Amino acid sequence: QRVSGAALSVRGVVKNFGGVRALDDVSLEVKPGSIHAIVGPNGSGKTTLLNMISGFYPSDAGSMKLGDSELAGRSATAVARQGVQRTFQTPKLLPGLSVLENTRFGGYARERASGAEIALGLPRATRESAALDAQAMHLLSVVGMEKRAGEEAALLPHGQQRLVEIARAMLGEPRLLLLDEPAAGLSLGELEEFGALLKEMRRLGMTIVMVEHHIELVADLADAVTVLDQGKVLAEGTPEEVFRSAAVVSAYTGA
Ligand code: ADP
Repeated sequence: QRVSGAALSVRGVVKNFGGVRALDDVSLEVKPGSIHAIVGPNGSGKTTLLNMISGFYPSDAGSMKLGDSELAGRSATAVARQGVQRTFQTPKLLPGLSVLENTRFGGYARERASGAEIALGLPRATRESAALDAQAMHLLSVVGMEKRAGEEAALLPHGQQRLVEIARAMLGEPRLLLLDEPAAGLSLGELEEFGALLKEMRRLGMTIVMVEHHIELVADLADAVTVLDQGKVLAEGTPEEVFRSAAVVSAYTGA
């Protein structure tokens, strides 16, 4: 067995939906402590790849290793327990619960009490509860949402809900954080703050894989970029390398 030293090593992953081959022999290596962007035209397989890595869909072939452990064939819960946390294109926060309560659910990945017990501070979870509250508040301040801790999360604008999802994901102390279009719908000011947040997370040693349409953000932040087109890897390299490639420009513009 080859030792790659990669945080995440994806090899030959295939996913079919009926007659559609959404991913066709996709491989990529994500370095520890890096920000790795996945870009590509609509329908190129980006979200499907995140769904494969996070165990939301089973893959038809291939291997996905987090360090030494194989993720392929594991359920989403099992993958989360291995240390993979994710956010969604459309934030999935629990209605009726506050920003703080939603953030506490991140503790589910590493605590024995259930997510619901932790969020609601039920007896089995109360011992862990005070410490979790403090950590959740700290992470909410990292993403700039601490002033909204008591507000109902699901009623906030999408951009802010995504920041709460990131705080929730970070509370799970992930080895790998997967972000699906985290910058969608952010204002220019929010975008700048968000870029600074991702850089801070990288400085803290987190490994991040993000699907992102915002090319300027990717060019500014990403250490490496994988370009997908029609389910295949079209190009990979630094942002400068891939965005200069004629094949990539033509996949985007159809020229
Ligand atoms: P992207 O995120 O790059 O826009 P997707 O991963 O969403 O692309 O989709 C890749 C391809 O797989 C598309 O052709 C899409 O229609 C198909 N696809 C994705 N998810 C499903 C699904 N659950 N059922 C059937 N087809 C799907």
